[in-house]
Amino acid sequence: MIGAFAAVVVISGITIINRLETGKWEVPDTDDFVRIVKRAERAPSRTIFLERRAIELRPGIDDAPAGISSVLASTRNTPTKLPGWKGSEASWKKVVTCVRDLFAPFDVVVTDQRPTNADFVLVAVGGRPGDIGVKDRRIGGLAPFNGEVIPRPVVYAFSTALSNDVRAICETIGMEVAHAYGLDHGYECKDIMTYLAGCGAKRFVDKDVRCGEKKRRDCEGGKPTQNSFRHLVEVLGARPR
Ligand SMILES: [Zn+2]
Repeated sequence: MIGAFAAVVVISGITIINRLETGKWEVPDTDDFVRIVKRAERAPSRTIFLERRAIELRPGIDDAPAGISSVLASTRNTPTKLPGWKGSEASWKKVVTCVRDLFAPFDVVVTDQRPTNADFVLVAVGGRPGDIGVKDRRIGGLAPFNGEVIPRPVVYAFSTALSNDVRAICETIGMEVAHAYGLDHGYECKDIMTYLAGCGAKRFVDKDVRCGEKKRRDCEGGKPTQNSFRHLVEVLGARPR
């Protein structure tokens, strides 16, 4: 169980996808960011909606309230129904609490009730990568990424593939949502944004760290380091006391 979880976490994350000038989407086989074109609009969505029910999504430029997903455009590129959460009620409550705790330092709402406002992050929880046409079964989650804030993004946490493991799903959701807020992979084992495993529960760490997956590199956009905690404070603000 632990071994399987570690393997999933090491590879989980996002897939690089380039939208070519032709308008086609290309999935390179080298990494796991879903790279999308930058958008003029960069206002962060301040509600993170964890959707546990089965939902149908359509491919296109992200618009969470409308159920439109750029990740899906890069994979199956056809309307797709996702199966939703299949774990226990108790585990679901723990997932929600865990994600809330992760984002507690920041001015953002985490809910599993569909928001009435027209601006939120949709986390589609459930199923396996194959459900959206991703062949690599080791991927635990997917998010669109371009190094900046992506408004109204749709991100994925493949909870069945993660064996409904609360901590694995929680940390996957943290990483995928944060990718959509512009965060790269950090080379710091305690950080939510890392592929490094084996150092216990992760959180957003207030520390300047190099980026990278299996080795250190510069961060998206060319900066030498990122600080996941500070980045989210900049984007969302600190939670008012
Ligand atoms: Zn990732």
